[in-house]
Amino acid sequence: MANSSTPNAHSVSDDGLDVQSIDALLRKAGLVRNLRGNAAGVTRRVRLEGAAQTRLSKAELFHAAPIPRVAPNGVQWLPVPGWDRSGREKTSWLWHGFSTRKGGVSRAYCAEGAAGELNLGFTAADDRDAVAQNRRLLAEAVTGNAATPLVTIRQFHSNVLIIASAGDAEQERPWKADGLMTDEPGLLLAVHTADCIPVLVADRKRRAVAAFHAGWRGTVKRIVETGIGRMRLEFGSRPEDLIAAIGPGIGACCYAVQEELLSSFESQFDYARDLFREVYDSDPVRTKYPMLFLTQRAPGHSPIGPSLHLDLMEANRRQLLAAGLKSSAIQSIGGCTSCQADLFFSHRASQGHAGRMLSVIGIRPS
Ligand SMILES: [Zn+2]
Repeated sequence: MANSSTPNAHSVSDDGLDVQSIDALLRKAGLVRNLRGNAAGVTRRVRLEGAAQTRLSKAELFHAAPIPRVAPNGVQWLPVPGWDRSGREKTSWLWHGFSTRKGGVSRAYCAEGAAGELNLGFTAADDRDAVAQNRRLLAEAVTGNAATPLVTIRQFHSNVLIIASAGDAEQERPWKADGLMTDEPGLLLAVHTADCIPVLVADRKRRAVAAFHAGWRGTVKRIVETGIGRMRLEFGSRPEDLIAAIGPGIGACCYAVQEELLSSFESQFDYARDLFREVYDSDPVRTKYPMLFLTQRAPGHSPIGPSLHLDLMEANRRQLLAAGLKSSAIQSIGGCTSCQADLFFSHRASQGHAGRMLSVIGIRPS
C-alpha cells in the first residue's frame, strides 16, 4: 500500500508502486500501460523478464525429427530411439511408433502425380477406403500384421480417458476421449494429431501402455498428468517404472499464440513462464524495406515486437515430471509439423487442409 511519504501528485498502484515510474519503465521496454488497469495482458515483456528463456529466433528453437524408418510396405514411421528390441529400456514387449505423411495411398493432400500419402484420419476430404488401407499399412509397419486391431478415439481437447480393449477397435463411432490405456496385449492404441502433441507412455514392470493427445487445451486440463494418475489406479503403475515419448507436433519455433494463453497457463502451472518464448520472426518485407519501419524508438524497441510462442512439448514433459517420471525416462523425439510439412501433416502449415498422423502403442502378444 501507499506510504505517507508518497507525493500526492503521483497516483499509486495497489502494490505501492508509483504509476508514473511504472509508465516510464514500460516506455523503456517499448510498451504502454493498459488503461483498463488490468495487470494481465499489459506487460508481457515485463512479465516474461526473469523467466528462463532468452529471446530466440525460430531457427534456434527448431528441433528436427530423426530420419524415419522405411517399412517394407513403404510406410515411413518414427520409432522411439532406444525403445527398439535391442534398446536399453527392455522394451521388446512393446509395439510403438509415430507415423509421418510418407507412404500410403491417400491422394487428398498431395499434388497431382505425387506419391500417395499416409493420411490416417477419416477426414472429409479423403476417401474412406484409402484411410482404412493406410491404417492397415501402419499396423503392418509397426506390428508386422495388417490386421492388428487399432483403437482410435474421437478427440475433443479434454482430459477424458478410456481403458481400451480389442472390442473397442474398428467402432463406427469411437469413444470420445483424449487418452487411452490398456494392459491387454494384441491391440494398438492410437491418437490422431496434425500439430497437437502425442505422448506415449509404457509401464515396464506392469506391462501397461497409454497414448495421449495434448493440444494447448488438453495440456491446460492436464491430460498427461491425469492419465498417469489413472494408470496408477487401473494398473498399479509406479511413476519410476514408466517411460514416455513425446512425438512430433508443432514446435516452439512455429507455435505463435495469443497472450491470453499465458494467463491460462499461469493459472494452472507455477512453471508456466518457462513454457513461453519471445520469438523474432524474420519478416521478408521488413528486411527488404527497413525504411518503412523506422521509428523514433531505439533499435530493439520497435512497436512491432516479438511474438509469443508456446512450447507444448516442454509443457507435456513438465507434466510427466510432475507425475513422477524420471527425466531420463522421457524422450522428446523432435520434429516440427509446421517446419517439416513435407514429412508431417500440419493443420497450421496447410491452413486447415491437412491429413492426420497416428501415434500408436501396444503390447506385443507373447
Ligand atoms: Zn517449426
